[in-house]
Amino acid sequence: MTAPRTVHLVPHTHWDREWYQPFQRFRIGLVDLVDRVLDLAEADPAFAFTFDGQTAAIEDYLEVRPEAEARVRRLTERGQLALGPWRILADEFLVSGETLVRNLESGWRRAEALGGVMPVGYLPDEFGHAAQLPQLLRRAGIGHAVVWRGVPAAIGHHAFEWVAPDGSSVRAEYLAAGYGNALPLLALPERLADRVEAFDELMRPFFGADEPLGMYGSDHTEPLPSLVELVAAVNGAQDRWRLRIETLGAYVAGLPPDAGGLPRWRGELRSGARANLLPGVVSARVELKAACARAERLLERYAEPLQALWGGAWPGRFLDLAWAKVVESSGHDSVTGCGVDAVADQVRARLAEAEQIAAALRDRAAAAVAAQVPHGSTAVLNPSPQPRSGLVELDLPVPGDWAAVDLELPGGARLPTQETGRGSDVVMARTLPGADLPGLLRRCLHGRELFGALVDGYAVLASEDGARRLQITVGARPDPAALDVGELHLAVAAAVAAAPEAAWELRVEAAPKRRLLADVPVPALGWTSVRPVPAGPAGGREAVRAGERWLDNGLVRVQVAGDGTLRIAGGGVELAGAGRLVDGGDAGDLYDYGPPAEDELVGTPESVAVACAERGPLRGRLEVARAYSWPAGLRGDLAGRAAERVEAATSTLVEVRAGEPFARLTVAVDNRATDHRLRLHVPLARAADRSFAEGQFAVTERGRRAEGGHGEVPLPTYPARGFVAAGGVALLLDHVTEYELLDGELAVTLLRAVGQISRNANPYREEPAGPEAPTPGAQGLGWREFRLAVLPHAGAWEEAGVLAAAERYQHELVAAPGSGSGPAGGEQRGLEVDGEGVVLSSLRRRDGWLELRLACEHPAGAAATVTGPFGRARSADLLGRPGADLPADRGVLRLPLGPWEIATVQLA
Ligand SMILES: [Zn+2]
Repeated sequence: MTAPRTVHLVPHTHWDREWYQPFQRFRIGLVDLVDRVLDLAEADPAFAFTFDGQTAAIEDYLEVRPEAEARVRRLTERGQLALGPWRILADEFLVSGETLVRNLESGWRRAEALGGVMPVGYLPDEFGHAAQLPQLLRRAGIGHAVVWRGVPAAIGHHAFEWVAPDGSSVRAEYLAAGYGNALPLLALPERLADRVEAFDELMRPFFGADEPLGMYGSDHTEPLPSLVELVAAVNGAQDRWRLRIETLGAYVAGLPPDAGGLPRWRGELRSGARANLLPGVVSARVELKAACARAERLLERYAEPLQALWGGAWPGRFLDLAWAKVVESSGHDSVTGCGVDAVADQVRARLAEAEQIAAALRDRAAAAVAAQVPHGSTAVLNPSPQPRSGLVELDLPVPGDWAAVDLELPGGARLPTQETGRGSDVVMARTLPGADLPGLLRRCLHGRELFGALVDGYAVLASEDGARRLQITVGARPDPAALDVGELHLAVAAAVAAAPEAAWELRVEAAPKRRLLADVPVPALGWTSVRPVPAGPAGGREAVRAGERWLDNGLVRVQVAGDGTLRIAGGGVELAGAGRLVDGGDAGDLYDYGPPAEDELVGTPESVAVACAERGPLRGRLEVARAYSWPAGLRGDLAGRAAERVEAATSTLVEVRAGEPFARLTVAVDNRATDHRLRLHVPLARAADRSFAEGQFAVTERGRRAEGGHGEVPLPTYPARGFVAAGGVALLLDHVTEYELLDGELAVTLLRAVGQISRNANPYREEPAGPEAPTPGAQGLGWREFRLAVLPHAGAWEEAGVLAAAERYQHELVAAPGSGSGPAGGEQRGLEVDGEGVVLSSLRRRDGWLELRLACEHPAGAAATVTGPFGRARSADLLGRPGADLPADRGVLRLPLGPWEIATVQLA
C-alpha cells in the first residue's frame, strides 16, 4: 500500500473590486459572500478561506459590517482565514515602485491588525509581473510569490526561483492553470471523487511527484456550503487521495523555505505562453495613467519630502488618505482602464483627490519656507536631491520704468529673466452717479475680494473743483495683512452723502506686473530666494535662440521640416523626422490592440502651420499645427476603417529651455474618430534591436519579439514609466506609456480609442478577456494632451545622463511668494544624495525618524552619499522595520549600492 497522495485545496475568491460593475455594486455581493464565509468557518474548524492576497475585500466588508471585526480577527488568528499581504491586487507596471511599496505596507498593517498577515506574495491575476517584485518581497521579509500570467514557456514546473535584477530572489509558485484550476473539480460535487484523478493528471506535468495545489475559487465566486462534508466523504471513501482544505499561507508554509534546485527566471514576467497577458491595458484610457503619475509624483516627490524637511507637524493622516486613494486606484481593473466607464470615472475622482491633498501639502510646505522670505521676494524650492537649477515663471510687481528685470539671489548674484507677459494695471475705470457707488461696492466687494484680487488700499478723493474719485489698489495677496473693509464702505457712504448728485470716478488698479522666467539654482531638496531688481548688463549664459522654424540652446537644436516633423540634433547625433503622428484602426478592446484586417494608416498631414511663440533667451517655443483626415471609425464588418472622414486638428508645442539637452513636446489632438490607435514616432540615431525602459525601480532591457502561445498575437508593445531609450534616443516620459521598438524608430501610443471592455471577435486574441460591455468613454473623444521630451544622445543610456535628464524633466521647481517681514531672503540645503544612477523614491517622517528610500538604477552599482542634518542612521526593511545602525559621520552617510538595489534608511 502506498501512502495516499495529498491534494491541497485552497478555497478563495478572486475579488475584482471594480471592473464590469462599479465598486459599490460589486460590494453588495461581497458582503453576502463574506457573511457566509464567516458562518462556514465558525461552523467548522476544518474550513479555511484565503482572501485573495489583498485586504481590500475584508476592509470593504468591515466598512459595512464593523461589528464583524472580532469574528474576522478570531478566525484569522486561528488560521482559518488568510489576509493580505497587499492592500490591493495592483497592476505592477502602471504605477510607481513606491506605490507598490505603500500597497504592501498598508495591506500588511491592516492584516496584522485583523489577526495576522499571510506572508505570501500572492499575485494571481496581474497582467504580467515587474522585474523587481522578488526584491520588494524579499526586502519585506517575504520568501514566496504565487503567480500566473506572464510566466514564460521556459518554466515548465509548478515552482521556480524568481530572481530580481539585483540578484535577490523568491520561491515562486506557478499557477500554470490559473487561480481557478480546482473549480472544475467541484463543479459537479457528486462526482468529486472521479474528478480528483483527472485533476491530478492535468496538473502532473507541472507537479510531477510534488503534491498538487488546487485553487478552488474564481472571480467573485464563493465556496460550496457543503465543501467540508464533501471532502470528508471523499477522503473517507478511498485511500488514493487525501484532499486537504487549507489557506494558501498554510500550503506555502509546508514548502521548502528556499528555491534551491528549481528552474530560475531573472527579471520581469511578460509572456503570453500559457495565459493571456492583456498588454493593451497599457494604452487604454491613457488619461488614467497620466492622473496616476501626477498623484504619485506629487505625493512621493513633493508633499512628503517637502513636508518632512520644511513643514510643521507631520500631516500623516492626510498622507495616509491620499496614498489610500492612489493604492485603491492601482487595482488591476482600475488604473488599467479595463472596466466600464463608471469605474474609470471613480478612478479619476480618487486620483484627483490624492492629487489635491498632495498639492495642498506641497503648497503648505512651500508657504512655510516662504514665511522666512520677505514680501516682494520669492522662495524657490528644489524637489531633487541634487543641487540644480530650473525655470520658474513668476508674476511679479515691477515698477513701470524698469527696462528689464534681473532676479537677485541671496548672495547678490543676478539671474537674467525672460519676460513672457505683462499684466494690465488698470482693472476697472468707470464714472457713475455717486448715489450708485455704495450699491456697486456692495455687489462687487466680498470681504476684501474685488474682481478676483484683494484690496490692498484705497483713497476717497474729493477735490475743490468738484472732481470726485474712489481709487482702490488691489493685489494677488493681502498686503498689508489686515485691512478694514468696513471703514472703506463707511468712508464712501459718508463722501457720497455729502454730494449725492455728483459724478464719481471708480478706479481699480493693480500694481504693474510682469510675468518673468528665470533659471534659478537651488540647493538639494532645499530652497533659495530671489528678488526682482533692475537688470544690469546682460550675462554670458548659454541662451536659447529661435527662428520662425527652429530653436537652439547650444545643447540641442530643433528644426521643423515641411511636413511638421522635427529634426532634433544634440549629444553628437541627429534625429530626422521626429514627432511623426501615425493613426491606424483598432478593432480590439481595452485588453488587446487588434488592427482590422484591412487597416489604413494615416501619417501625412493635410496642412502644416508653424509659428514661433517664444524666442528665448531662457525658453524658446514653436507651435506646430498639423491637421489630418482620419477615418471616422470602423466599417460595419470591423474588417476595415470607415470611408467617412473626420478632421483631426493637432498642435505640437516644441519647447527648448536653457541648459537642457532635450526638446520638450506637448502634443494636443482633437480626437473625433473612434476605434483607432494614434502613435508618435521618433527615429533612432542608429539601428537597435534592444530597448531600455524605466519603471518600478528598474530599467528593463527588452528585445523586439514577445512570447505568445496561449491565444494572443504576441505584440512587442511594452510599458515604460520614467523613460524609454534605444539606439541613441531617449524619450523622457510624463507617465506610464506604451512603446514599441520598430525598425529604426520608437513609437509611443498617444491614444488607443476602443469602445468595449472585451470584444469576442478581437482579431488579436482567441478567447474573451471579460464581458462585451460598451465603454464609450474609452474612445477618448475631444481634446487629448500628451507630454514627453526627446533626448538625443551618443553611447548607452546609462552613460548619457538619461536619468538625470528625466529627473529634471519630470520635476519642476516650486515657487512661493515671500510672506515674511525680515529684510533678507536666505538659502538652505535639505538633504543631498550623490551617486550616478541613484534615484529618490521616498522621503518621509516615520516615528521621529526621516526615512529615505533610494534605488540604484544603474547596471554597475553606485557609491551613494547622503548628506544632511542628521547624526544617526540605521537601515530599515521595506516595511520600515529598523535594522542595523549605519555609520553616519557628522551628517554624511556613505551607502554603497549594488546594481538595481533598493535601500531604505532611517536618519535622525
Ligand atoms: Zn482580476
